[in-house]
Amino acid sequence: MKYTLRPAPGGRDFSAELNPEQYAAVTTDARHALVIAGAGSGKTRTLTYRVARLLECGVAPWRILLLTFTNKAAREMLERVSTLAGSGASGIWGGTFHSIANRILRQHAQRLGYRPGFSILDGDDQRALFRALTKQFAGSTVKKDRFPKAEVLQSLHSLAINQGCSWQQTLDSDYPHLRKHEETISKIFDAYRARKLESNTMDFDDLLTNLVKLLREHADLRADYRQRFLHVLVDEYQDTNTPQAEIIGLLGGGEDSSLMVVGDDAQSIYSWRGANVDHIFEFTNTYPDAVIYKIETNYRSVPAILEISNAAIAGNSRRFAKVLRPARNAGNMKPAIVPTPDNRTEARFVAQRIDELMAAGIPGSDIAVLYRAHFHSMDVQMELTRNHIPYRITSGLRFFEQAHIKDIVAWLRLLSNPLDEVAFRRIVSTFPRVGEATAGKLWQGWLGTAQAWLAAHPEETALTEPHSRIMAKVAVPAAARPHWAGFLAAMDSLHPEDRELTPTELVRLAQNHMDAHMKASYENYEERLEDLEQLTRSLADMADLDTFLSQVALLSEVDTQTAVDPDCVTLSTIHQAKGLEWKIVFIIFLGEGLFPHYRVIQSGDAADLEEELRLFYVALTRAEDQLYLTYPRYNGHSYDSQFCPPSRFLTTLPEELYELWNL
Ligand code: ATP
Ligand code: MG
Repeated sequence: MKYTLRPAPGGRDFSAELNPEQYAAVTTDARHALVIAGAGSGKTRTLTYRVARLLECGVAPWRILLLTFTNKAAREMLERVSTLAGSGASGIWGGTFHSIANRILRQHAQRLGYRPGFSILDGDDQRALFRALTKQFAGSTVKKDRFPKAEVLQSLHSLAINQGCSWQQTLDSDYPHLRKHEETISKIFDAYRARKLESNTMDFDDLLTNLVKLLREHADLRADYRQRFLHVLVDEYQDTNTPQAEIIGLLGGGEDSSLMVVGDDAQSIYSWRGANVDHIFEFTNTYPDAVIYKIETNYRSVPAILEISNAAIAGNSRRFAKVLRPARNAGNMKPAIVPTPDNRTEARFVAQRIDELMAAGIPGSDIAVLYRAHFHSMDVQMELTRNHIPYRITSGLRFFEQAHIKDIVAWLRLLSNPLDEVAFRRIVSTFPRVGEATAGKLWQGWLGTAQAWLAAHPEETALTEPHSRIMAKVAVPAAARPHWAGFLAAMDSLHPEDRELTPTELVRLAQNHMDAHMKASYENYEERLEDLEQLTRSLADMADLDTFLSQVALLSEVDTQTAVDPDCVTLSTIHQAKGLEWKIVFIIFLGEGLFPHYRVIQSGDAADLEEELRLFYVALTRAEDQLYLTYPRYNGHSYDSQFCPPSRFLTTLPEELYELWNL
């Protein structure tokens, strides 16, 4: 018999802050629910209110799991929940699939044959490992045979996992031109997996697949977590890949658990990373009792922006056709299409217009410039700087992926996991005169010794005796000799015998050891020191080294942005802008061949072209009040600039929906 408790007295009136469609989803008792609705209709808001409502109904926070696209999104939603529910949301498990997987694997990875304290390889580390392996297996023939670069191997390896197929299948479907290298690639991939295991490391994909494996193969753990999570909620469901969909099934598929996913099939933009929009279509097959909720009111954009967005996406074949009615009506400036003579002028237009808007009192944080690819932002960055307009940029290298930060972090990684090959190689290759070959020999010596020491001390995960003592017998090639003793002494200093240093102290010390290298290697040494200062500041509240290292690996660029400066304009790729909104949005580089990308046009692949259009739709629907669509008639620099017609996405828009601005 099922008995339902009433909400605690003094609760909020949710129905006043939600429309009836949203309210129905927020309060549903359905075990499996799919909320499917267009952009800006309050899907994320619905999830937030549902979490608040669950807390109000007495669900313990630790029994709620909230999966989001960025860790920041989870943080913001939970902050909002705290104000809504009036009680702590702090125990809720919230974050990206990767960070939740990391959290669970930290406790149980030993069941999969890892040692405690595994390290995480980010994209840059993965490429370093693939480069080393390519050298080993493809050697001298790399150039002659046009053997694929490390980046390509990395994408192939990762895409296959995220599509949930073998790499040979992905090779056939997405990289047919590489078939002739199949044998060598196979050797490299085998070695890649072996090296990761040997060095007790996981890449991002391993975090997902290992969690799947853990829960599939260990019924006791699966039962534990299923019992624990009474409610699993997933935002941006249209962009889940195969292992993620499996994780949802494994964690949210318990007898007593409820699962709610929200998404918009028209905004699926990550198939190039293995996301599969079919998961949303198949939801009702996977969960036959699933209830579907639709929301048909848009709260974000003024009607003129909504109309142009609806018109744009109408060109795509769609399975879930959605009507979106505007809730807003004020401030109806038509979206502007602005052709400019070239990319420099385009940037000047953007900067001048932003300058005017800010002078009229609009805070910079209400303005965004969006583009398809990071390098499209270069001219705008320059122009904004020239006009003294502050901006923050969320595309490009992640903060923690910058070389000097990684140099420092490598010391801490090696300290925490002495088997971390990538970290070790990174450190020793900063010694003058040490190249790949010497680094490889040193690693063999180090690895053998570290393994032997760990085998003799099974209760330890790191080398807790002084490194100089443990490593005394390693044979050191002549090129490395001048620096080896210093390196070991430095490692010892990071691990004093009397107490454990905090992450902040560790960064400071490692930085001292790297100072000479940094001065010699980076021309903008001063700026890089400032970055390191920021790094230590952001560490202040992190208690232990393992937590810190996981954060470093898992936080995206969006996540590491500290409190938003009200003056700062946002520059972002469209992919990174998913789920976000600004009062005023500029979309730049809307030339045919730039967006849609010429490679997609040339391939003639209809599915890829549709994804480009969805990406355009995501961009349009970020805007609340004003929208500027710009493109350069000529693109490039004077000596190689190319004529660039307007994007087909612009020319197919009905003329009455926009205004043409002539510069
Ligand atoms: P996207 O598809 O871009 O992720 P979404 O469907 O998740 O969008 P939200 O971001 O939740 O939409 O909501 C868009 C905006 O509309 C937000 O500013 C939100 O606060 C506002 N909004 C949503 N529903 C309501 C409502 N019932 N009343 C007032 N404002 C609302
Ligand atoms: Mg959303």
